[in-house]
Amino acid sequence: MNLSNEIFWWRLELELLSELEESFVWKLGDLGIYRFAIEYHPESPSKRTLFVWLVGNEWSELQRENLINCFVPLVNVFKLNLPNPIWQKISDEDWTQSWKIHWKPDPVGDSLLILPSWLEAPEEYLQRKVIHLDPGSAFGTGSHPSTRLCLKALEAMPLKGLRVADLGCGSGILSIASLCLGAKHVTAVDIDSLAVNATRENAQINQFNSEKIEVFLGSVDTLINNLEAKTVDVLVCNILAPIIKELAPSFDQLIAPMGRALLSGLLISQSMELQNYLISLGWTVYVLEDQGPWRLLEISMD
Ligand code: SAH
Repeated sequence: MNLSNEIFWWRLELELLSELEESFVWKLGDLGIYRFAIEYHPESPSKRTLFVWLVGNEWSELQRENLINCFVPLVNVFKLNLPNPIWQKISDEDWTQSWKIHWKPDPVGDSLLILPSWLEAPEEYLQRKVIHLDPGSAFGTGSHPSTRLCLKALEAMPLKGLRVADLGCGSGILSIASLCLGAKHVTAVDIDSLAVNATRENAQINQFNSEKIEVFLGSVDTLINNLEAKTVDVLVCNILAPIIKELAPSFDQLIAPMGRALLSGLLISQSMELQNYLISLGWTVYVLEDQGPWRLLEISMD
């Protein structure tokens, strides 16, 4: 078929490592490109395939080259090379459905499942606790290693009946996971109003009402001022090492005497400095797990 007078699309296909997923999703959102999908490969969990569809007659060859160049700084952060982009010219399709077929249920740990809202849990995952979360959210789709480290650690904790605070909630994924895992109540904050809205929406989608979760715009002070029980049993904070360091002096006001915090989003290379600082504040620090360059710490007062 000659596509020249027809509506057509450029489909970009890029093989990515999982740690690149969130920055690519963020970049695409920033560029106003929302027709994309990321394919997971259960047989190789560190691999993703990104698909982007661009309206054919709106994207010249130069513009498509520029788009690829926008991705270069994102991979440079991880000292990686940009994988070979594969462009395919394809005819019009029903977009409302076709792009969704690439999204798959995403099992995390032994008992959690991240599931796009339009999918049913497959038979083999029926026993898992479902976190309904639509991919494409710029605030944590659950695929970033630092989020996954937190999810697995939450899963391993006895959370039943505990109060949790989620500092830097993003999409709300860690709040929702905590509630799915039996936490009594979550207080979540983020300095980004879009993240606050996303967490509220995602809490509703997952049927957690305001008795279970409260979400505020702000940071650690807002959290402290809004805790009904004054302190929490578990704090989760997946931001970046320098920000965690800034926020850490307030943690003792936030965490109950027998409580603990999961601190993620830090690179192993930055960890020692943060660990020493936390120790100087009186915390006992445990390295819970490393994944690639990312590290998860747990702190408590015991
Ligand atoms: N908790 C989610 C999102 C992590 S991304 C997950 O684990 O996937 C980090 C989030 O922290 C972003 O949404 C960002 O807006 C927020 N953030 C950054 N600095 C912050 C600060 N000082 N106080 C509160 N939130 C902050």
